[in-house]
Amino acid sequence: MKAGTDMSAVLKAASFAAEKHRDQRRKDAEASPYINHPIALANVLANEGGVTDPDVLCAALLHDTIEDTKTTTDELRGMFGDTVTGIVLEVTDDKSLPKAERKRLQIEHAAHASPQAKLVKLADKICNLRDLLASPPADWPLARKQEYFDWSAKVVAGVRDVHPGLASAFDQLYARRPE
Ligand code: NDP
Ligand code: ZN
Repeated sequence: MKAGTDMSAVLKAASFAAEKHRDQRRKDAEASPYINHPIALANVLANEGGVTDPDVLCAALLHDTIEDTKTTTDELRGMFGDTVTGIVLEVTDDKSLPKAERKRLQIEHAAHASPQAKLVKLADKICNLRDLLASPPADWPLARKQEYFDWSAKVVAGVRDVHPGLASAFDQLYARRPE
């Protein structure tokens, strides 16, 4: 793909995600706009990880659309094609399962995911630990934050091989686990 085409695809994904998440907020006390989060993932990948694969950057921007909005797989496929949709599906939880089971499966699935999906997972965990450190949900007690840090580390253990630099960025955040 040519550079201009890549940029168009990434902007199309940003615009699509902004529209889909338009009425959602993050769980921090300030209820930040949800779209800040997918944009943060793409930014971490591109500007901290040096990732240039437009399919990965598009998938990062779209990673929560199927899980958290009414977006369908067919809709994503029609707009962004099989590769991007496949990556998004790899990082999408099955919401019909109980929460504890979903969290267990993330650890299991992440380790066997494609390199592209592993990159998105790694960026997702980096961004969520940063959010928990800088702007956590107001009602989370210390123990819940600690549990989240520890679970994230288990997910990252299965994906860290895909990008040692980003894995090290994750480790530096984990070192700041709330005590
Ligand atoms: P949740 O899955 O409920 O919330 C974490 C997710 O919220 C993140 O993965 C992220 O997902 C999203 N998110 C939105 N805003 C923020 C933010 N500001 N900072 C960080 N993440 C944000 O939390 P848990 O991981 O705790 O999962 C729930 C589990 O914990 C269940 O098993 C439940 O039974 C248990 N639980 C534990 C409690 C406790 O006190 N220990 C209390 C209640 C439940 P995304 O990237 O997808 O947006
Ligand atoms: Zn996410």
